[in-house]
This record gives sequence, C-alpha cells and structure tokens, in this order.
Amino acid sequence: MLNYLFTSKKINECEIPNRLVVTAMVTNYCNQDGTATEQYIAYHEEKAKGGWGLIITEDYAISPHAMGYEKIAGLWNDSQIESHKKLTETIHKYDSKVFCQIYHAGRQACSAVNGGVQPVAPSAIPCPWNREIPHELTISEIAQITEDFGDCALRAKQAGFDGVEIHAGHGYLIAEFMSSYVNKRTDKYGGCLDNRLRFVKEVYENVRQKVGSNFPVTIRFSADEGVPGGRDISESRILAKQFEEWGLDALHVSNGVYGSQNKGGTVAPMYVPHAWTVDFAAEIKRLVDIPVFTVNRINEPLMAESILEMGKADFIGMGRGSLADPALPNKAKNGEFSDIRYCIGCLQGCTGALLAGSTLTCLVNPSLGKEWEIDYTRVSEPKTVVVVGGGPSGLEAARIAAVKGHKVSLFEQKGFLGGQFVSAAYPPNKGELATYTAWIINELDKLQVDIHLNTKVTKELVQKINPDNIIVATGGVPMIPPIKGIDKSHVFAAEDVLLGNVPTGDRVVIAGGGEVGTETAAHLALQEKQVTVVEMFPTLMKELDSVSRFNLKKIINEYEVKQYTETKVVEILDDGVEVENSQGRTVLQADTVVLALGYKPNNTLASELKSVFDNVVVVGGALKTSNALHAIREGFEVGISIK
Ligand code: SF4
Repeated sequence: MLNYLFTSKKINECEIPNRLVVTAMVTNYCNQDGTATEQYIAYHEEKAKGGWGLIITEDYAISPHAMGYEKIAGLWNDSQIESHKKLTETIHKYDSKVFCQIYHAGRQACSAVNGGVQPVAPSAIPCPWNREIPHELTISEIAQITEDFGDCALRAKQAGFDGVEIHAGHGYLIAEFMSSYVNKRTDKYGGCLDNRLRFVKEVYENVRQKVGSNFPVTIRFSADEGVPGGRDISESRILAKQFEEWGLDALHVSNGVYGSQNKGGTVAPMYVPHAWTVDFAAEIKRLVDIPVFTVNRINEPLMAESILEMGKADFIGMGRGSLADPALPNKAKNGEFSDIRYCIGCLQGCTGALLAGSTLTCLVNPSLGKEWEIDYTRVSEPKTVVVVGGGPSGLEAARIAAVKGHKVSLFEQKGFLGGQFVSAAYPPNKGELATYTAWIINELDKLQVDIHLNTKVTKELVQKINPDNIIVATGGVPMIPPIKGIDKSHVFAAEDVLLGNVPTGDRVVIAGGGEVGTETAAHLALQEKQVTVVEMFPTLMKELDSVSRFNLKKIINEYEVKQYTETKVVEILDDGVEVENSQGRTVLQADTVVLALGYKPNNTLASELKSVFDNVVVVGGALKTSNALHAIREGFEVGISIK
C-alpha cells in the first residue's frame, strides 16, 4: 500500500532510508551554553527508534548572539562538539540519519535571550513579534557571520552529523538578506536579487569549502513569505535554480516569516488546510534535479504517500507529526494507522509553550520532553486503580497506569468517553480533535482497561472495589451565574448545542465570548443562523493564542456573527436578551440563548471520597479550571507515578 514512503533516496552521498523527515523544531531542552542535555538526546532518540528516515535537529546557533530562544543548541565553539557527538552516536544506533540545521535568528532574535545584545539585520526594521529595532550589519560584521556559518558547519561534521541544513527561511537572518521585505540596503548586499543573494551565496561557499564536496549541504527557504512586500513564488523559482547551480544538495521548501504566522506562516494551525504549501514544493521540483522537501500540516502517512506518488516532492517533513507520535513511521510501515497518535494542529503544546517561554511540549503526547526520565517498565506487583471520569485527564491517567501494568477500571457518568474534547471537535476546522479521542479509546481497549459508561460513582461503589489508588478526573461543570431568566426553556449549555442534544432556533445569542462561546458561534453561523456573541471583556477569545484567535475571528467575521464586547447580560427574556454596556441597555432579539460562561471544578465527589479514603488524587478540571494541555499532562503524571 505504501510504495513510495519507505524507499530510500540519496542526498549527496548520504542514503536516507525512507522519505519521512523530522523537520527542525526548537525544543529549548539544551543547556544555556548550547550544549546538548540528556533530555535533548533522549527526545531525538525516541524519533530514531520510531523509524524516521532523516532527523533534522533544531536550529543550531552559529554564535552566542544568534539565538531566538534561550536554550537552543549551538556549535559556535569547539567545546560544544563533544555533547552533540553523543547525540549523533545515539541516533546512529538506529537506521536514521541526522542533519544539523544551522542558523542565525537575525532580527527575530531578541536581546532577552542573547545576553542583552541587540538583534542584527540587513536593515533596521523591527520584527513585528519582538519589536526590537535591530542593528544594521556592517560589511565586516557580515564577513564574520559568514565565517561563523562555515565554522559551525565544520563542527557539525566533526560532531558526526550526516549533513547540514542552512536555514534561509522563516524570516531569519539569511532570509532577511534575500528578501526586499526586510533588506533595504543600497550596498552590494541590497537592491537587485543578485545582490540580495550575495550573503547566502557567500555563506554556502564558506560552508562548502569547510565541509568538503561529499558532505550533504541543504537549504531551507520560504517559497512565499506571506507578508506585503515579501518574496513570493516567482522570485523563489529563481532562488531554487541558483541554489542548485551553486551546488546545494537538496531544497527544503517551507513558507512564511514570523510576521505571517497568523495566516499559517511557518507553523500552520488547524484552521489552515492540510499540505497547504505542497504546490510550492511541486513548482520548485519541476525546475530542479536535486531532492525537494515539502512540509507544513502534513500529519498523515497516507497523505505523505500521495504527495510522493504525484511527484510533488521527494521528502515529506512532519515536525509536529513526530512530536505527537515519534513512532509514526514504524506504525505506518506496519499498516497500524489507527494506532498513530495524530497531531491535531492545536499549537498549544508546541509553538504556544515556546512563545510563553517554556520548553517544547505536545498536547496529545504528554511524555514529550520527558523521554529521558520516564520508566515504562511494567510493575511486578500491579495495583488496582479506579479512575473516575472519562475526559482527557482521566483517559490519559487510565492509559498510562495500564501501560505500567496496573489493573485499571474507569467509570464515566455519561454514555461516551472523551469529555469536553468530544464537543470541542464539532466547530469548524476542529474535527481533528476526534482523532485523539478515537486513538485513546482504541489504546484503552488494547490495554484492557475495564470501562463502565453511564455509571455514577459513589463512595459505596468505591468501597466495594476497595482499590489501591483512586484518581478523580471529573472535570468541570458549566458556570451558571444568577442571571434573571437563566432557567428558561430556550437557554442551553454550549456543549449540548455543539453535540446536537438540543434544537436551536434561527436567532441565537451566545453569552460568553471565550473560546467555547466563539467556536459555538462559528458552528451555528455555518448553519446559516443569525448569531450574536456577548462578552464582558474587551476582546473575544482572550485565553486563545494569537494565531488561533486570528483564524477564528476571520470565520466569525466572514459569517457575520455580531459581536458585543464589554457588554453584560442583564436578563434573559422570552424573545431576547437584555444587555448593558457603556451605551446603555438594549434588547438583542433571540429565540435561543447559549451559555458559554466558563467552567468550575466538579469536585463534590472528590471531597466525599477524600473523607473516606487516603489514596485519592484529583486531576485536571476537577482540581482547577484548566485546558486540555494541562489536563492530559496531569493525568499522565498521576498515572505514571503509581508504583
Ligand atoms: Fe500538534 Fe498540538 Fe502537539 Fe503541537 S501541541 S504537535 S499542534 S498536537
């Protein structure tokens, strides 16, 4: 069935065993001095074990002031080589090859992570994300950075990497020189395309001269920068031809810069179609004879296979797919597609966590970044474990406890598993959430977790089982504030509306403009209903990351959802909702009112059980209002800690 994915292909003299590539992703797992940690090595080892043909590491800083994040890898001096050698030796125990991506973040670096040093760029135009005015590089500084790139590549070779990838995309320093979006210079490095390519050419030549002709040197660049004045495919076609002519061994066709991130840019969220940039790679592939990589929102091996079959690319990059399931290639090879834990494009654990200054995590894979410290050995004396609640937190706790060999029973009051994650898959563009729920239910089935649906747990029931461990994961319940008329028969909870448990009329007012309220608005607007959202805060979706907010806002604007912010619901009437804001009071006509006013912990049972048992642990939304990322992680931590 998979005739293309698992064939080998050469890049220069390096034979890559299959076409699945882990693309570079910042981890923030290294030491501040750029050396590799045990955590960093174990994270990569998991992918090598999982069968990826090629692993491209995160961006290695070529100098201590080139970093965009505090704890990324670096090879700017010889003393760093040894720790990275351990990484390549570890990966080479398996079949995978490993390339080192080398970069300078340019104006997308920031002084906060570069020892207070001002970012640099071809011209003094700030990056819209960090807003620091960069220092315009002088000719002699450019020459030094060029040498630094070459030296860094040589150290990568000495550390045992199979190749290097020069990062000339995503708006980093080399990309800045190549694009008139940022490069406004009037010297030999600015102006016409030939001048704008001078820096990347010099970097490549320096690298090639230091690593030799047989060592793979590839380049990553953005085919379309997605910003006004940025480079588009017409100029990128020329770049591709030039790169091939100079001697680069493969082209990694990516997209975007930081400034286009909201539109999908460098890392696309679930709102952006799958494989949305693949046709850029296909265009480039028509022009060159060297291998071409494609990337971005490809998370399905069958989709990857179809891209190869159509001849649109030679290698398929799946950065986030490898975070969600490091064993994706091996599972795909064995045809175990329903065993793959798919990336859902949420960005919460990866980009979201990094932008918040944390380390790389993944919402659906709570063991990410913990590979070095997790012990999956089955226990010799299994415990009986009762998990109450079949939402994301309870499911993950049950799964990992069963993986450790414990005898697990899970009780859920409703007739289905997945909790709020189930209804969360209903709004537009969120269907992929269901892949996670389906995956974990399948896992629990394989692990023979004893599941009881439609079962209300009481302390008597638990006393009868008398388990060694009790995990309460009863989640949250909707907040119902004391608003006059809130108990009327046309007032429904958002979850019931999304699941289709209740009928809605044609004119709907949604009380609450957070993530759930706004997504419910989008869901109903797509059903041609007239929808109004009322929110007390100045902005809708204030808890969402900027990328998701931008994309969801686009949908509700397109479908003409009326939006009232800094507005309070005063009373729910039979035919509308009375609201109040700085303009005074008004009545919004409605035949249906939806409540999306947040959740509070559902912890009554937890308190009851704690009064009788001393082995009760409460996790997820039952403990405090949280999101799926934290709920799943907490479930994992509690489940794995049972001895
Ligand atoms: Fe994918 Fe979300 Fe995991 Fe990021 S956090 S890898 S987007 S599932």
